Amino acid sequence: MTATQTKFIFITGGVVSSLGKGLASASLATILQGRGFKVRLRKLDPYLNVDPGTMSPYQHGEVYVTDDGTEADLDLGHYERFSGVAATKYDSVTSGKIYQNVINRERRGEYLGATIQVVPHVTNEIKDFILSHLTDEDFVLCEIGGTVGDIEGQPYLEAIRQIAYDLGRERVMFVHLTLLPYIPTAGELKTKPTQHSVKKLQEYGIQPDMLLCRSQIPVEQNEKRKLALFCNVKEENVITALDVSNIYEVPLAYAKEGIDRAVCNHFGIECQEHHTDLSKWQKIVDVAKNPSGDVKIAVVGKYTQLLEAYKSLHEAIKHGAIANHYKADISWIDSELLEKDEPERYLKDTQGIIVPGGFGKRGTLGKINAIKYAREHKIPFLGICFGMQMAVIETMRNVAGVKDADTTEFNPTCTPVVGLMTEWQKGDVTEKRSKDGDLGGTMRLGAYPCVLKEGSKVREIYGQNEISERHRHRYEVNMNYEQTLKDSGMVVSGRSPDGQLPEIVERVDHPWFIGVQFHPELKSKPFAPHPLFVSLIKAAIDLKKS
Ligand code: GLN
Repeated sequence: MTATQTKFIFITGGVVSSLGKGLASASLATILQGRGFKVRLRKLDPYLNVDPGTMSPYQHGEVYVTDDGTEADLDLGHYERFSGVAATKYDSVTSGKIYQNVINRERRGEYLGATIQVVPHVTNEIKDFILSHLTDEDFVLCEIGGTVGDIEGQPYLEAIRQIAYDLGRERVMFVHLTLLPYIPTAGELKTKPTQHSVKKLQEYGIQPDMLLCRSQIPVEQNEKRKLALFCNVKEENVITALDVSNIYEVPLAYAKEGIDRAVCNHFGIECQEHHTDLSKWQKIVDVAKNPSGDVKIAVVGKYTQLLEAYKSLHEAIKHGAIANHYKADISWIDSELLEKDEPERYLKDTQGIIVPGGFGKRGTLGKINAIKYAREHKIPFLGICFGMQMAVIETMRNVAGVKDADTTEFNPTCTPVVGLMTEWQKGDVTEKRSKDGDLGGTMRLGAYPCVLKEGSKVREIYGQNEISERHRHRYEVNMNYEQTLKDSGMVVSGRSPDGQLPEIVERVDHPWFIGVQFHPELKSKPFAPHPLFVSLIKAAIDLKKS
């Protein structure tokens, strides 16, 4: 259970979805850290999937993976990147998981014959999730997914209302993120949708303590006064969340608006001006806004129409660029285009090519064509997970000349260079899988150690012998082909400590060609850019200068 001092901030969203609640929550958390507080961020998603692992990236964007192997909402990525606090399975939940727990308990007879109801059984399960597995955090920030008024969200609003009742209002703050639409013909920001949204919250017994108002233009004091009066919120707690060009500016923009003062006042914490240290954010923004130059990086993937599908990758590339004081000019290329047209058309001016993670056959030939282009033209190349598997197939087909080399993910093949993983070690436990097992939650997930080969490029980049990276895959490179790959210029330069699983490959005849079975993008942070991305961008800059 929680330390008696822990305070809870609940973030709800109103008016429309996609307002950036995750970023707002992460920004508020980093501001509180800037005051020296210890924080933890949690996400509660009202949809019925047990986790987002089986959802299409078009539905949900990227699936974020934690060290402990939870497939979670992409907002957890924002949380980790902004706060530096590693998220765990106790920080992300969905209605599917909540109901699953309730029904499992019912089957075990734990409710002693009671009729199981949304209130109190589901709401209690939600409350337990929010309050458990905490230690000495000063603040726990919980974001409720969806928009106030959604049917699925009701048990969550009831649960957080009850938490405020149980713990006392002095330990709970409700923050409502809303939108003030700007109507150009009237030249005005409109407050009515926010008023309605707050009325809806009040119907559920929740009085917001702060309104965080997304707006494309500054909100005038008279508008703040009006919102404060109609929504029953203190005027100084109506905070503008002005659109900014760069996400790293958000914490600075909120702090400028006095969000930290409003939070401190709410909780009765003594608040002196200029106590919040956000200098590290200022430095990041300064570099991001004044790069020494730019490099062109192409990401050749399948979900390029929706950038949310590659959220962490996008951020990791930016971190790598910032670390080099450069800007990455990223083009997101649908791999299918490289099946119809010469790759040259899309890739000729790029200084770096990334083939990211993915599932399924569509567009794979285009990915392989992009990899061939990177290999032959000596363009720095990073293959991530599926991208690594495709890089291995490319070498087998185009260098070793084994034309039918393929992955069993698509079809049975005579040359299964990539095959289904049926057994692997997780610590002391042997994990086993079969072809017809469940799809949800059964991949090789989470952090695994990897030993780097002496004298390899990756060893030089990481500067250490053993690393830990996060995984999310069902297939792996087949080590039976290791010698053929080696003879074709591709070496396995990272493997699991037992030597069984190939985790990294690199080409020895290329300035920078690396494929990794894990997802390095998940661990990159603005203040701790991932070494692979820093090095990739450095190689891209070198190519540009050459
Ligand atoms: N589809 C591949 C696998 O399951 C790669 C997964 C990924 O890129 N995350 O192994």
